[in-house]
Amino acid sequence: MNHQVICRKYQMLGFALLLGVCLGGCNTQTAGLQTDRNRVSSPTATDLTRKDRKVILTTFTVLADMAQNVAGDKAIVESITKPGAEIHGYEPTPSDLKRGQGASLILDNGLNLERWATRFYNSFPKVPRVTLSEGVQPVDIAEDAYRGKPNPHAWMSPKNALIYVENIRKALGNIDPANAKTYDANAAKYSEEIRAIDLKLKQAISAIPPDKRFIVSCEGAFSYIARDYGLKEVYIWPVNAEQQATPKQVERVINTVKANKIPAVFCESTVSNEPQLQVAKETGAKFAGVFYVDSLSPADGPASTYLKLLEYNVNTLIKGLQGNG
Ligand SMILES: [Zn+2]
Repeated sequence: MNHQVICRKYQMLGFALLLGVCLGGCNTQTAGLQTDRNRVSSPTATDLTRKDRKVILTTFTVLADMAQNVAGDKAIVESITKPGAEIHGYEPTPSDLKRGQGASLILDNGLNLERWATRFYNSFPKVPRVTLSEGVQPVDIAEDAYRGKPNPHAWMSPKNALIYVENIRKALGNIDPANAKTYDANAAKYSEEIRAIDLKLKQAISAIPPDKRFIVSCEGAFSYIARDYGLKEVYIWPVNAEQQATPKQVERVINTVKANKIPAVFCESTVSNEPQLQVAKETGAKFAGVFYVDSLSPADGPASTYLKLLEYNVNTLIKGLQGNG
């Protein structure tokens, strides 16, 4: 679906919401409103708890987990996109718009990640918004149509995650000063955990022989980890988009894998493995697993938190490169 079509659809959603007209899910919403009306005179415990706390919306699950760690039980944190969702080209739904209007704060990544978000935010201009990559030293994309633009995947390096956490701490303290001390303490504790993972990743990567320190993925999402941990990054396409894996992009990876005798290639949980399976087939490298990048796994999966995501990815990489994946 091209950009114009997305915009047109989006405009319709906006108007529908303003006019109180329903586009899909209408019956459910109407039923929900009727139930809500009944509840006004006798609010449930859940309503009270929700009413007493700020509601923080994030654009994707990784940011929600970070923010939840800082918020603790003092605020409700929700992600607009669900686990497993494609986050670069997401289309907000009418219920997302409703949630946005009811939020106290929106946290996003920035660096052109949420290309769908500007029109979304325009529907509720008074809700404060904080961009968590503020202060990160961007890595520019080196190839293809995005060349020279900042790579959006800054959260993938724990060093940057510390900057994100500091931005979350300040943002929560600003909208909810009564709980600022709790946010400060939670942020300090969580930052310690991130530093511990940072050390673990460094040690794990330093155990890989230097000439084998390649990370071959579908999306170019590892530029920050590559920069901060001394890995060489190889990817099929730079940023998840509508058109993926041109023959030229696949051929480039095949050539690099062959030239460097890279033993293992990988893909990410939110996209199709097919192009990377082709690379594996044509190079003899092993397809050694799926990384979590743009989304956490569901709660019962291997990357249900940001810290687990980092560990899972590095373990998957090391197993693959050692031939035990
Ligand atoms: Zn991505």
